[in-house]
Amino acid sequence: MGKITILPDTLCNQIAAGEVVERPAAAAKELMENSVDAGSRKISLSLIQGGRKEIRIIDNGCGMSGEDALLAIERHATSKVRTVEDLGRVRTLGFRGEALPSIAAVSRFELVTRESDAISGTRIHIEGGIMRGVRETGCPPGTLITVRDLFFNVPARRKFLRTVDTELSYISDQFLRLALAHPAIHFQMMHGERTLNDWPQVKSLEARVGQVLGMELTSKLRPVFSEVPSISIRGLVSPPEHQRAGSQMIFAFVNGRPVRDRILNHGILTAYDSLIPKGRFPVVVLFIDMAPELVDVNVHPTKREVRFRQPGEVIETVRRAIREAIQRPAAPPGISPRTTPSALPRVLTNARPSAHLWGREDQSGLQPASEATIPQPVPPTTALPIQMSTTSTAAAPSSHKSSLTPFDLLDQESLSGVDELRFSRCRPIGQFMNTYIILEDRDGLILIDQHAAHERILFNEISARTRREAGQRLMQSVVFELMPREAAVLRQWLPQLGEMGFEIESFGGDSFVVQAVPVALSRMAPDLILRDLVEKLPEDETSPRIDLCTRLAQSAACHDAIRAGQKLHPEALRHLLEALDAACTASTCPHGRPVWIKLTGREIARLFQRT
Ligand code: ADP
Ligand code: MG
Repeated sequence: MGKITILPDTLCNQIAAGEVVERPAAAAKELMENSVDAGSRKISLSLIQGGRKEIRIIDNGCGMSGEDALLAIERHATSKVRTVEDLGRVRTLGFRGEALPSIAAVSRFELVTRESDAISGTRIHIEGGIMRGVRETGCPPGTLITVRDLFFNVPARRKFLRTVDTELSYISDQFLRLALAHPAIHFQMMHGERTLNDWPQVKSLEARVGQVLGMELTSKLRPVFSEVPSISIRGLVSPPEHQRAGSQMIFAFVNGRPVRDRILNHGILTAYDSLIPKGRFPVVVLFIDMAPELVDVNVHPTKREVRFRQPGEVIETVRRAIREAIQRPAAPPGISPRTTPSALPRVLTNARPSAHLWGREDQSGLQPASEATIPQPVPPTTALPIQMSTTSTAAAPSSHKSSLTPFDLLDQESLSGVDELRFSRCRPIGQFMNTYIILEDRDGLILIDQHAAHERILFNEISARTRREAGQRLMQSVVFELMPREAAVLRQWLPQLGEMGFEIESFGGDSFVVQAVPVALSRMAPDLILRDLVEKLPEDETSPRIDLCTRLAQSAACHDAIRAGQKLHPEALRHLLEALDAACTASTCPHGRPVWIKLTGREIARLFQRT
């Protein structure tokens, strides 16, 4: 008796389901894609409990005959490809014939469908891959699929489902990607009784992007258009001065298929090289179309990745097209908002009008010569890491390497004199590389990282003060809208933000209204900071606990802090040093990379072997 047997279909489908339907969002995506493939003009998605309880999709597409409907739920049953040649030129979103049987294998599944010229429709009911009933039924033309209790029969997978909000945000993400790709289809999304999105058919991509991302953001985007013999590219991209803390707003489509492809994303980001800081991201909606032979979509079970025949050419075309779009002057060239920080931190200004305190940012040097003519909205030293939670390497005092660096000579003594050290009393020697402040102390030389210092000041303000004080009410409350995923994240963190002095309330849909902010942030635009913050926060509460305060300081600092590469007016310098003095005595400094280092005269002498 041999050891090998062929697995029964039900088991095969459950195994396949592991790849195709990893979570409710994947099931919703497959079903919506089928509706698009069926030529629907309207697709409605309704969910109960973030899709964990129920996912229902109604379309008005071509529907299926009873015979086809029974076939459709068989493994490898598809109407979309017949031969291997077909596989090389698929124009539909689906083609693997796996989705329906996989989903039906791990849920309570119901399919109701009717072709428009048929007198009656068909209803099929399957539970955990087992057929429970087929019958004729009256129904409108099109297809209705209900998926209940996903993974009810696979407890191991059910355990891995996240909270309702998190699963919902994943589904939203799939929903809006598909909606972006199909402006001619009316997309509706409901959660329980609530209509989350309702985007009627529109005529242009711009109009659809406006529906999905909001008109305010969309009006800032620049059109991209490029045709080379084998590739056509169109879309909308943000100008460099408009940035995000995360890459969630990069939407790429290859032949109408939403993809999240590393190589492609890299190509998109290279277009922004030297224009936006590392770790910041543009908003991009980009459609790349090419002959189906030039791209293999069959490399990933959920078709999220693609393989280009000529990746180099695609990347370069994408880069050039975006670059061209963002360099095209949109508004009269002038100083962009980032170069004239309007909301200066109080600690630095003592509430005086402040713009004059800031030297013009020095933009020479790092700008690529060939691009010197385009407006350069961002300080060029973009690679500044602003993480405060990483362990410092420079401050490790006892590591003695074979070749001595100044850091190796730092000893505990030089770092411990915080008590006596008053930065504002030291003699300022100047700024080095517009990034480090050099001071002379009684017995040594002090180097301060100006960005880190300012971030630390903000951090201390936020953590030391806001935990005690109530927030400061805004003169005018600020309303802002987030993407579904970000809104879900923000909702989860609302209680903690409340403790820090924020007063934020849901304002319908994915909008929020801010009434009060922590005192330390009262001069900054709260919506910008919160947007930035949610992009950095983990998606759900199962992630390791994070220090919200640190993240908030980083976000605030991102929008507000003195940057590396920025020339400081003497008066701004003095304010910074005073604030740093206050910050360092107000609380223990947070762990992180060093804000300042000191070289004592003795250490310098040792470096010169004077001892
Ligand atoms: P694939 O999409 O890869 O072909 P699926 O398992 O998703 O495989 O679907 C199997 C077949 O069922 C499709 O090829 C299509 O013919 C049919 N089908 C699925 N959903 C619909 C729908 N909403 N409307 C019409 N036909 C559908
Ligand atoms: Mg399909």
